[in-house]
Amino acid sequence: MPTLTRSEAVERASLVDVEDYHVDLDLTASGDTFRSRTVVRFRARAGAATFLEFEPADVVSMTLNGTPLPPSASTGARLELTGLAESNELVVDAHMRYSNDGEGLHRYTDPADGHTYLYQHLFINNAGRVLPSFDQPDLKAVFRVSVTAPEDWLVATNGALVSRDGGRWEFAPTKRISTYLASLIAGPYHVVTAEHDGIPLALYARAALAEHLEAQAAELFELTRQSLDRFHEMFRIRYPFGHYQQAFAPEFNFGAMEYPGLVVFRDEMIPRSAVTDSERERRANVIAHEMAHMWFGDLVTMAWWDDLWLNESFAEYLGSRVTAEATRFSDAWTTFAMQRKAWGLRADQRPSTHPVAPSRVGDTEEALLNFDGISYAKGAAVLKQLVAWLGDDAFLAGLNDHFEAHAYGNATLADLLGALSKASGRDLSGWAEVWLRQAQVNTLRAEVTRDGANYAEVAVLQSAPAEHPTLRPHRIGVGLYDRAADGSVVLRERLDVELEAVGRTVLTELTGKPAADLLLLNDGDLTYAKIRLDEDSAAAVPVLLPRLDDSLARAVVWAATLDAVVDGERPIAELVTLVLAALPVESETAVVEDVLRATRGLVDRYAGPETRPAALQLLAQAADRLLAAVQPGDSRQLAAARGLIGATTDTARLRGWLAGDNVPDGLAIDADLRWLILYRLSVLGSAGGEEIDAELERDRSASGEQWAAACRAARPDAAAKEAAWTAIVGDSTLSNRLAERTASGFWQPEQLELLEPYVERYFTDMPEMLRTRSGMSAEHIATMAYPSVAVSERTRQLAAALIATPGRNQILRRVVQDSDDDMRRALAARG
Ligand SMILES: [Zn+2]
Repeated sequence: MPTLTRSEAVERASLVDVEDYHVDLDLTASGDTFRSRTVVRFRARAGAATFLEFEPADVVSMTLNGTPLPPSASTGARLELTGLAESNELVVDAHMRYSNDGEGLHRYTDPADGHTYLYQHLFINNAGRVLPSFDQPDLKAVFRVSVTAPEDWLVATNGALVSRDGGRWEFAPTKRISTYLASLIAGPYHVVTAEHDGIPLALYARAALAEHLEAQAAELFELTRQSLDRFHEMFRIRYPFGHYQQAFAPEFNFGAMEYPGLVVFRDEMIPRSAVTDSERERRANVIAHEMAHMWFGDLVTMAWWDDLWLNESFAEYLGSRVTAEATRFSDAWTTFAMQRKAWGLRADQRPSTHPVAPSRVGDTEEALLNFDGISYAKGAAVLKQLVAWLGDDAFLAGLNDHFEAHAYGNATLADLLGALSKASGRDLSGWAEVWLRQAQVNTLRAEVTRDGANYAEVAVLQSAPAEHPTLRPHRIGVGLYDRAADGSVVLRERLDVELEAVGRTVLTELTGKPAADLLLLNDGDLTYAKIRLDEDSAAAVPVLLPRLDDSLARAVVWAATLDAVVDGERPIAELVTLVLAALPVESETAVVEDVLRATRGLVDRYAGPETRPAALQLLAQAADRLLAAVQPGDSRQLAAARGLIGATTDTARLRGWLAGDNVPDGLAIDADLRWLILYRLSVLGSAGGEEIDAELERDRSASGEQWAAACRAARPDAAAKEAAWTAIVGDSTLSNRLAERTASGFWQPEQLELLEPYVERYFTDMPEMLRTRSGMSAEHIATMAYPSVAVSERTRQLAAALIATPGRNQILRRVVQDSDDDMRRALAARG
């Protein structure tokens, strides 16, 4: 994949002004290529030379201003142009390759019915895989798209449909958009349409998902309407891109992508089996997140990838906010506090940490690697803190001014800070310096001394890691929770505290007050920091946590508790005991799921081979108790069942559920739950290849195929492991998703002896995988295939050797460095 450097982009933007692209695609030929005829009209400095991104399979013809270009102008990655006029017309006719890695024009064949589906994904630098283009965010242009497709297909793009004649589709020109935002889907997609407030709405999914799309359309449209209305209340500029279409596409790398007028989601978001309410909440959040991008990212776009965070942090913040304020999922901030922030905190403490707003991203590859928990979750948490500090009115006024000043153009962090400063009357430069320009996280630790039953002194200790010593101002809530006579836990008082950027702040207002049973820093989750409870409060958590009514307060306590285990400050055994006590009475499904998932991950890596089986058994017991406690059909029932299936070693019980015996009332053993059971049986060596084949025969679907790949890779069988490993590292015909699912099943802490040779092979074989795969799917596969559960000094030595080898791929280096840092913590915690 060609990499574009920042300086190349700056230079090109100074030479070129793009008017429009007329892209004419012919998708009717068989084989691995499609025809792409493009006319690019652009202005340039007369006599200048420049280039476009262009990766053809072969070129039919190329002319610039009517003159044929020599074949050598196309280098395979770029199209070099010299002797430009002031006004130019480039005409290129070429065959381009379909992709199977989720970038460019991805082609998918549905095993359910043999239908073929395409979607286009050009982010971050893949536009050249579909058309010759000036592929950088600040060279916006109008796109006019025409498509010839098989007659039974549906085609949709950013622009509205103007005419259709059989397989010939013509679309209206778009507004000025960046190249990475040009979108297209094609195939026998099923469609459901509606309308809201003058905006045409549409939903698309594979024909095999038609029944599920129809069943879920009412909910999807309701969320879309609610979110649109809320954005229209907040923003002065109405939704600017005409229709609002949402497509659910197979093997999409991201959760979704914010193409103006045609958002594309991964089609796992149209589930065919039962899901929990928190999974529905996550989908609602993604819908709102992508819609937020219509203003932040699509209408006003970053000038260069330095400000990727501007896109993602805002969309993440507004996604949670709009979900909480406008939809039935009013606890969306609890999910954010538990799940999303943990993602940001982990990324922020790794060797690869970077500022939310890096001052200089050198090229597109580095930009892609910054596409992490820092750009999304930390950035959003920091914005939440900014809103707490500025006040909401000033925040929204500044945003609206920003949109109006830069609509259909590009803007930088400085532009945004200028607008917010003007609206609030506050100078934001100091705030931006510590929160956006400095990496890493502060720890806020409560320090309590008592005088009998009263506080003698309560202080907040703020610290930072030695290599990133910045302390920050924090505005936080401090909750005082007491245990009432009837056992319930009540909030006595919540202080609103402004902490200076100093190491120790005494909360004088608490001196002499009766000590609380639980003193909770960052109650309300306004700031971004690691939280540590005082000793007495920490000791009271097992008793108090189950009785704390406020789900957001519980999330803050859970997050602090899990984080203390991650850091090795608290033993994993203590966490498992807490889970056993608190999980069976937890009322929030999102908290149940996250506690089970996070604890399971820690048990697999932090508990040694002698202690892991017992810890896993306790985890299974916690899930089982919750399963027994909830009402049939409650979302927690499914969450508990999944947790139990994943942790139990009771194969007889699992086989019973598969056969329909002793299944809890209200729990449907549907297609995906059957596969989850079979997956666990595969890990435990209780299910063989034939049984997996038989299940796939029963469920010949996209999901079935992916599950089967994971199950096969998970079997403790030498031949199965070898086949899976070969597929992961060497089979580039395997699609992004099938390779990921194979990698996800490969490493199992139950199978360390069998897997021993593959620890070394990861480090010798992965560089080869990265020669044939690139981009986001390569990063996913390298991460999932890492021997994270082979926790040993030997693994760390191999990692160190790879990192020290010059010339290693940047993606692989980042994955290994970060995965190794996780292992460092696990080893330290094992002691
Ligand atoms: Zn986004």
